[in-house]
Amino acid sequence: MFAADAVAKTSVAVVGGGWAGCAAAIALAKSGHAVTVFESTRNLGGRARGVQLDGRMLDNGQHILLGAYRDSLALMRTVGIDTDEVLLRLPLQMRYPPGSGGMDFAAPRLPAPLHMVIALLRAAGLTRADKMALARFSTTARWMEWRMHNDCSVSELLERYDQTERLTKLMWRPLCLAALNTPPERASAQVFLNVLRDSLGARRAASDMLLPRVNLTELFPQHAARFIGQYQGQVRYGANVGAITRNGDGWRVTLSGEQAPQQDFDCIVLATPVAQTAALLDGLIDSSALGDFSYEPITTCYLRYAPDLRLPLPFFALIDDAAAGDWGQFVFDRGQLDASQGGILSVVVSAASDAVAQDQGELAQAIAAQLAKTLRMPQLAQPLWSKVVSEKRATFACTPGLIRPANDVGLPGLAIAGDYTQSDYPATLEAAVRSGLAAARQILEPADEETEEQS
Ligand SMILES: Cc1cc2nc3c(=O)[nH]c(=O)nc-3n(C[C@H](O)[C@H](O)[C@H](O)COP(=O)(O)OP(=O)(O)OC[C@H]3O[C@@H](n4cnc5c(N)ncnc54)[C@H](O)[C@@H]3O)c2cc1C
Repeated sequence: MFAADAVAKTSVAVVGGGWAGCAAAIALAKSGHAVTVFESTRNLGGRARGVQLDGRMLDNGQHILLGAYRDSLALMRTVGIDTDEVLLRLPLQMRYPPGSGGMDFAAPRLPAPLHMVIALLRAAGLTRADKMALARFSTTARWMEWRMHNDCSVSELLERYDQTERLTKLMWRPLCLAALNTPPERASAQVFLNVLRDSLGARRAASDMLLPRVNLTELFPQHAARFIGQYQGQVRYGANVGAITRNGDGWRVTLSGEQAPQQDFDCIVLATPVAQTAALLDGLIDSSALGDFSYEPITTCYLRYAPDLRLPLPFFALIDDAAAGDWGQFVFDRGQLDASQGGILSVVVSAASDAVAQDQGELAQAIAAQLAKTLRMPQLAQPLWSKVVSEKRATFACTPGLIRPANDVGLPGLAIAGDYTQSDYPATLEAAVRSGLAAARQILEPADEETEEQS
């Protein structure tokens, strides 16, 4: 991917230490460049980071990766992470608690497409019409090569493919919310198809669901920081970049609120969220070139019970109905991922603008009551402790035809990176990592050409 220890050493500033910034910094450092990461907070990880709650490390939000996250998994291995150890690999599944009115769909460990066929035949809680609709969907999507001439909403796509109400409710809507963090009525059918192509439509391992066994900082950013250091790079924490300006052929980085706030670099990667990137590029480019994004929140509710409490599975899908106070869409048993978290459940609400508007204590109580009822475990109604964590700008709303900017915004020696740049994928860890790697390639290209000329 990137040649190690390239000859020409270029100094590169990477602004923002989320997964995109880490990916760019790793690739650049590994190629022999002098990298400095500026991260405004005290930790790397950005929107996927560990947080101290109730005296232990939890996450700012429950995350799930897919076997299809090719570049994220490869990058984790590059920095020395044993992905089999830190991720619990489960076959593709959508399993609701028995008796909750849901379904039980789980792919066996067989080669594709047999895993899907058998999963479909065995699926409990679906009628023959639902199963036929699902089979028809995947055959037609495959035949169309997972491509639409004109993007539309996921709801329109499902209607066109004659998907049943029950299948939409139990399979497509939760998948769309989990993958795009946008309700099907407003979500991009093309991006949804891209995710399905690389998961349901690909080899079985790509469809696997991977659950972190360690907190998100420990999962990757911590190792990223160590790797960057090993390659003589530097990570500056609490370093909020207030401005960037041209300085000859290079770039000057000015920090906010310091005595000696300026440092000069040959090149720069802006791996900040799009709003901050637009502010930093104000006056350098027309900021409308970065696109026009709106955002969707995600709420994660942590509930703690006695340490020996255990759910029958590591995670379940839940039928949500906000009007009835049933907010939860997925519940994860953290104790089955990390033994030190026995008794802790995390419940996810995607596209959570209504949930964010609720009183946090009442929301946690409602979710606890939903779990007790749905899982038929009355003790779940009375958690010993609870905490609601809401990320208001968790991801951009992934709407039809959304225009996302390229890494190259036309400024020499500068690349932008982040989950919002051009990608097949919605705002995900994989989109962020791919974007960071693409930004690094853009920076590396001129240096590589020089190296070739010299040799
Ligand atoms: C609650 C939640 C749940 C999610 N669930 C999933 C999931 O299950 N699966 C999945 O794949 N994805 C999930 N995502 C999406 C995923 O976390 C993001 O797509 C990804 O983390 C974005 O990474 P990034 O590097 O592009 O941006 P960010 O993580 O936002 O990184 C930007 C960094 O820049 C720093 N910064 C900002 N301004 C400055 C400045 N001026 N100077 C210096 N530093 C600055 C920030 O502090 C931050 O560290 C979820 C997101 C959230 C919030």
